[in-house]
Amino acid sequence: MSKTIDTYNPYNGKRLNTYQLDSEDQLNKKLELSKSTFESWKSVEIQKRVELLKNLADEMLADKNKLSKLITKEMGKPIKESRAEIEKCVFLIDFYILNAEQFLSDAIIDTDAHESYISYDPLGCILAVMPWNYPFWQVFRFAIPTLTAGNVAFLKHASNVSGCALAIEELFIKSGFPKGCLQTLLTNHETIEKIIGNDIIKAVTLTGSEKAGKSIAATAGKHLKKTVLELGGNNACIILKDADLEKHMDTIVKARMQNSGQSCIAAKRFLVEEEIYDEFLKLFTEKVKALKYSNPLDEDTNMSCLAREDLAETLEKQVSKSITMGAKVHYGNSRDKAYFQPTILTDVTEDMPVFKEETFGPVAPVLKIKDLDHAIKLASNSRFGLGTMLFTADYKKASKKVLNVEDGAYFINEMVKSDPRLPFGGTKSSGFGRELSKEGILEFVNKKTIFINK
Ligand code: NAP
Repeated sequence: MSKTIDTYNPYNGKRLNTYQLDSEDQLNKKLELSKSTFESWKSVEIQKRVELLKNLADEMLADKNKLSKLITKEMGKPIKESRAEIEKCVFLIDFYILNAEQFLSDAIIDTDAHESYISYDPLGCILAVMPWNYPFWQVFRFAIPTLTAGNVAFLKHASNVSGCALAIEELFIKSGFPKGCLQTLLTNHETIEKIIGNDIIKAVTLTGSEKAGKSIAATAGKHLKKTVLELGGNNACIILKDADLEKHMDTIVKARMQNSGQSCIAAKRFLVEEEIYDEFLKLFTEKVKALKYSNPLDEDTNMSCLAREDLAETLEKQVSKSITMGAKVHYGNSRDKAYFQPTILTDVTEDMPVFKEETFGPVAPVLKIKDLDHAIKLASNSRFGLGTMLFTADYKKASKKVLNVEDGAYFINEMVKSDPRLPFGGTKSSGFGRELSKEGILEFVNKKTIFINK
């Protein structure tokens, strides 16, 4: 088994760095440090923890250009989107600076006791297994609330963004967080499965694929440890005949093509009412054709390669199989190493891979629907449940369908997106648990019942 991780720039295939995996001795030291840090960190006043969050936001803004470049080099995201990712992390930090103390304060409950309340106590060391697609955002949306609640964390990041993982750890240390608060583990799957069983680990979260989620949750379940899973998605984007296409088309295109199509909450199935199908396809295609592919470090790039060549190969197979089953290529469908051209498919049916599976790249299957009820039925025909988005002039009628949408989110006249102020998470094979908002900070705490009589 390899003892190193090599990282590559997916745009030009050049090797960026080689990292040594942690030895058993190093891992044991990290576990011990985590344990001793938790003993002191859990008693640090919330105001002090919030002070450190302020330093962290400052450090990130000061290093924004350097960090953005690192993201772009490791996973290929257009540089403008990398900068936006860092800024969004700062927005998240600011949200918890303002709200964490209130979210974590004791909740008084009136009972027959002299005094009764819920105390939100930290659990200990939480293991986070994270993906490469938003290498800072995914980590921060877990780490900021979790550490602010008094926990400590281990980060097992996707191996292709190991440089980002180490940069994140360094940022926390530079901001004054004790060294054991957030530690990066450079290791393989097998070791992670073993670490989950260690008593020091109190809970596990994974953001990643359904396959990884099943494996991690099974191991955690065997050891009776809580998990939060943020997995894949196959979001429907419904466009009704009364939608203002001119107004919403940029958002609709972004909903699929942002991050070169590699977003869990991207629009992955376009369900368009038949009366406007041709007009939609024309306008959508024009905008997709205008996307500019070049070096992701160039300022005007808005479409890039995928994060690894094997991801582009998987996407190619899903598209090819769908074409064999009768899908028509309306635009695109070519691949060059890690680059997959934005692609629009028509004549798509529910049994095709591009409808049934998650496509993690810039592929847009467009289907005709009869009406809103038909659209919701098709949208729900998925084993995933992250979100549904719907564009219409009649938002009141659309909002009556909340109960019919089985997903973790329903966005009307907006793309499904994450926001620190709102909870984020899925249903069905998209996972369970919530991140962000008050819900997120209360995922990894002991909601302890206190009952006091005189
Ligand atoms: P992935 O292959 O599942 O990898 C995610 C992380 O899990 C990586 O750190 C990976 O490590 C690790 N991993 C995978 N199998 C493991 C195992 N058996 N034991 C321990 N660690 C394991 O997913 P990805 O390709 O990086 O990310 C894309 C997927 O993530 C998509 O399905 C996407 O929809 C989903 N995602 C979901 C959300 C959400 O919030 N719901 C957000 C972003 C992405 P290595 O890199 O070392 O393999």
